[in-house]
Amino acid sequence: MQYNMEFCESFDFEIEKIVDTIRSRDVRRIYIQLPEGFQRCTRFITDRIRVLLGRDVEVFISANPSYGSCLVDEYGAKSVNAQLIVHFGHTPYPYQAYNADVLFIPVEYTGADLSRILGAIGSLCLEENVKLCLAASPQHINLVKSICSAIERCKCTFRGVVMGCYPVASENCDVLVVVSGGKFHCITQALFEYRKGFSSSSSKILCLDPYSYSLWDPSKEAEKMVKIRMWKIFQAANAKRWLIIDGFYGQNRENLLVQLTKLLGASNREYHILKALKLDRETLINVGADSNFDAIVVTSCPYLVFDFNDFDKPILTIGEAFAVLNGDTNRYVYPW
Ligand code: SF4
Repeated sequence: MQYNMEFCESFDFEIEKIVDTIRSRDVRRIYIQLPEGFQRCTRFITDRIRVLLGRDVEVFISANPSYGSCLVDEYGAKSVNAQLIVHFGHTPYPYQAYNADVLFIPVEYTGADLSRILGAIGSLCLEENVKLCLAASPQHINLVKSICSAIERCKCTFRGVVMGCYPVASENCDVLVVVSGGKFHCITQALFEYRKGFSSSSSKILCLDPYSYSLWDPSKEAEKMVKIRMWKIFQAANAKRWLIIDGFYGQNRENLLVQLTKLLGASNREYHILKALKLDRETLINVGADSNFDAIVVTSCPYLVFDFNDFDKPILTIGEAFAVLNGDTNRYVYPW
């Protein structure tokens, strides 16, 4: 099928907004960045931009990692003298100030059936005084706003966009429903609630998948994850040789690196710092992470560590490393 047409047409790439921006800034060269799942729509997007613009525009496509808006490829754009970066699939990263002109397009999913969604969450809203909060991954922001407008019985509020390392505030919610495909965003929010220790102020977290219309409870999975993380912290307790893996752009955590290296130095632990734009199993094997080091801490993206649960040596988030080094268990479950 040309361009995976059916797939690409189910999402809003906001071509008009892109073209308006190109026109108003008289842009001649753009740099496009898409998460892996949307890269198949590259031709679909560029063809539409050119047709609507009515003139040619040079388009460069980044194949560098685009897991989040923490990785806006400013260096790539600069190297080709692009005047505008169009970054698809995410909203701006709250921990980063950008040095380039970036247009963020969240890429809203337009195929959801609102009545089926309302059917799935209707039972949560049987009483008028229930405080229902909704949060979403970037692909469902407008959908969530429509859900809140359509709900009549209880009080519904939109709490914002959940990122893997940036949950929404859940205070004053009886139930917080995270609307997203897959588990990543909802588990993030559930882990954040764990940090609060499920006190009486904790909200119940539920996950709604807008592609399958299923509503599910993440607590069991989050609990399993916490147990594994506790074991990793325990494993790292006496580690002497540490590898710190830091990233680039928004994943370059200088402040945290300073805090971490101070603690490691003060406790006579040895450390080495690796900088990686992309961290995968091959990177770990290449540096001999399992033989050269006793513990690894990933400061770049906290969620990468969960892919390495099976690794022999403990691979920690920065929050977990602080739990080991200064006993700050307040943030041990959650990455920061
Ligand atoms: S979870 Fe990782 S990829 Fe996602 S925004 Fe945070 S640092 Fe970036």
